[in-house]
Amino acid sequence: MLKLLFLCLVLTLPSIFSDKIRFDNYTLYRVFPKNENQVQLLRGLQDSDPRFDFWTEPSALVNNVDVLSSPEHKSEFESLLKAYNVEFVISNPNIQEAIDREPVKTYTRRNLRSMTWNSYYDLDGINHWIDDLAISYPSIVTIIKGGTTYEGREIKGLKISHGEGRRIIFLEGGIHSREWISPATVNFITNELLTSNDEETIAAARDFDWYIFPVTNPDGYIWTHTVNRMWRKNRRPVGNHVGIDLNRNWNNNWLVVGASSNPALDTYAGLGPFSEPETRSLSTFIESIGDKIDMYLSFHSYSQLLMLPFGNTTEPLANYEDAMKIGRRAMGALSVRYGTRYETGNIAEAIYQASGGSVDWVKERLKVPLVYCYELRDNGTHGFILPEDQILPNNLEVMDSILELILQARRFGYMSSGNIVNSSVVLIFMALLAKLLQD
Ligand SMILES: [Zn+2]
Repeated sequence: MLKLLFLCLVLTLPSIFSDKIRFDNYTLYRVFPKNENQVQLLRGLQDSDPRFDFWTEPSALVNNVDVLSSPEHKSEFESLLKAYNVEFVISNPNIQEAIDREPVKTYTRRNLRSMTWNSYYDLDGINHWIDDLAISYPSIVTIIKGGTTYEGREIKGLKISHGEGRRIIFLEGGIHSREWISPATVNFITNELLTSNDEETIAAARDFDWYIFPVTNPDGYIWTHTVNRMWRKNRRPVGNHVGIDLNRNWNNNWLVVGASSNPALDTYAGLGPFSEPETRSLSTFIESIGDKIDMYLSFHSYSQLLMLPFGNTTEPLANYEDAMKIGRRAMGALSVRYGTRYETGNIAEAIYQASGGSVDWVKERLKVPLVYCYELRDNGTHGFILPEDQILPNNLEVMDSILELILQARRFGYMSSGNIVNSSVVLIFMALLAKLLQD
C-alpha cells in the first residue's frame, strides 16, 4: 500500500511542479471609465477581487484600464460594467494565442551571439550570458551579487567599469516578473555598453561605473517561464496565498497608498517594510554604494511613461523641475527613431498614487540626484506579451533616451563630464612632466 502511495506521489509530482497554467479564452478588456464613480468602481474591484487581473491602474489620470478575465468570470465582469454604464471593448479575446506566439530562446554557453534581440530568455540563459560576459571582458566586467531571494537564488548582476573613481549609473530590471521586456531592455543596454562602435555610447560606458541587475525578482521570473506567465510578485507563501509585490515592499511610505494588505492581491505589500529577502538584501547592496550613484533607472512595462519620484504625492519635491526637464528631453530623443511617444511625470501624477516602490526609497533615503522609472512599450495593444518584432525597436529607442539622459544631466550640472575631466588633467600633468624631463 505504502509502495503504491509512493508510486502515485512520484507520478503526480512532475505534473504538480511543471504544469503550465493555460490562459485559453482569457479575455483582455480595455475599459474606459468616464467619471470618478466609474474609476472608484474599478478601483474597488481591483482592491477586493483577485479574479480580475488589472494590467493597468484605474485612475482619473488615465483614459483606459486593461483588465484580464478568465472565461468563467467574463459575463459577471461585463454585466457589472454595463450596470454602471462603463464603456469597454475586448482587446484580445484569447490571451493564450499571444502567449503561444511569444518567442523564448535558449542561450548557448560560450556563444555571446546566441543572445539575440528578437526573443526573450529564461533566468538560466540570462545568468549564463552574464557569466560569459565576465569571461569575454575580464578587465571590464565583474559579476556582482545584489542579494538573495526567498527561494535562495542569487540576484545576479554585473558591473561594467573602465577604471577607479567613477560615479555610478544603476539599472534595475525585472522586479515585476511578468514584464519580460524589462530584462530584455536591460540586457540590450549592457550589450551596447560593451560592444557598440557609437562614440557617445563608448563614452557613456567609459565615464561611469554601471551596476546592472536585469532580473531583481528571479523566483518570480522563473515562475513566469515555468508555470504562470502572468505572475508579478515574488514566491513567498503567505497563508493560503503566495507572493509579495516587491515594488510595494520598500521602506518608504510603506502601505500608505496604492498597495494592499491582502495577500491574495497583486499589489500585496508584505508583512512590513523590507519584509522580503529580495528587497532587504538588494537595498543593503544599493545603500553600500549609494553615495556614488548619480542616476538610478528602474525598468517596468507597460504604458510608455518615464516616471520620477514620488509615488505618494503630486507635490513637486526635491529637484522635480530639473528632473522633469531632463526626462522630457530624453523622451524627445526616444521618439526620434520610431515616433514612439512617452509621457513624463512623477508616479502619482502619471498613473496614480502608489508607495513602497524602489525609486522612492532610492530618492528619499540615498538622495540620488536623478531617479527614473520607465514603463516600457507598449500602450496596451499587447501589454505584457510584447511581440518579438518590438523588442529591438523598444531597446534601441530606450538606449537613445539613456544617452540623452546623460547628456542633459551633464548640462544641468548633475553629472560631471566623468572621465573626460580626469583624462585631460592627466594629459596636462603628463605634458608638464615631459617638459620637465626635457629641460
Ligand atoms: Zn511593474
